[in-house]
Amino acid sequence: MASPVIIGSERSEAGLAQGMAILRQGGSALDAVEATLRLCEDNLADHYVGTGGLANARGEVELDASIMIGSTRAFAGVGAVKNYPNPISIARKVLELLPQHCLLVGEGAELFAHENGFAKAELSTPESLALFREALKPSENSVEGVRTLAAAGDEAYREKAIELVNRFLPHEGPWGTINVLALDEAGELVCGVSTSGYPWKYPGRVGDSALPGTGNYSDIRYGAAACTGRGELSMRALGARTVVDGLARGLDPTEACLEMLREASALPDAFRAELRTLCLTPDGRHGAAAGQATATYSVMTATSTEVEIHPRTQL
Ligand code: ASP
Repeated sequence: MASPVIIGSERSEAGLAQGMAILRQGGSALDAVEATLRLCEDNLADHYVGTGGLANARGEVELDASIMIGSTRAFAGVGAVKNYPNPISIARKVLELLPQHCLLVGEGAELFAHENGFAKAELSTPESLALFREALKPSENSVEGVRTLAAAGDEAYREKAIELVNRFLPHEGPWGTINVLALDEAGELVCGVSTSGYPWKYPGRVGDSALPGTGNYSDIRYGAAACTGRGELSMRALGARTVVDGLARGLDPTEACLEMLREASALPDAFRAELRTLCLTPDGRHGAAAGQATATYSVMTATSTEVEIHPRTQL
């Protein structure tokens, strides 16, 4: 019998204790990961996942999420989902009810959610809308079209907002996707990821969080890994799978994370922003790495009384 462990990226603290409570009662890693991420998605103070997530360039919130099971490498992801606040649960439903597919996006994912009884909700909040409007304000980088928006109404904001994509500046502060990785008593290793993606992204852009091998990967033989930050770098470097490959070659968790980040950071990228990663092995070891010295990840073991914040190793 394995000793349960659950780890998560920055701000997974909103749900991690609930996830560990499920594991301590002998619950499954799948249930623990889903429950943890749902709480994060419902956390209105978090503007990078679920309700209150940051909008795309037209002012609409589009969510990506995925879940992967280590023993079978079964994977399900949803991308660019509008109006449904818990994409991690839609991904889980795809995993269970639609195993002939791995990924649903946009309208198809929303149809599947509707047909399976998920409730629609408004995903923007006054705070997230204010952040969107702030981002549209004329700046030194803005083109003339955006400059003329000051007096315009919502529609004009949305029509011209596409120009935000052309600014595409990596935003400051911590990246927002949430990764949750759990090992249950039965030895199952599950990885889940949820995000509103890159703020002000081009509509329809799907990031690494919805895709196997990039933002999310779990293989019971070696470990599970997940990424946050610049998803396009993770896609080009196959981030999560590369970390797991490192574990398979015998690297320790931290070194496997560092090796992947070294490779990804060597790629030419005009829009360079930070990429972070973390991993968990089937025997409960874990590690994480990032470009910044102050980056952290969160851990709970069967004996933790509260969420432990661990430093990520700096690249
Ligand atoms: N990896 C996410 C994406 O590219 C962004 C993030 O971590 O905040 O969509």
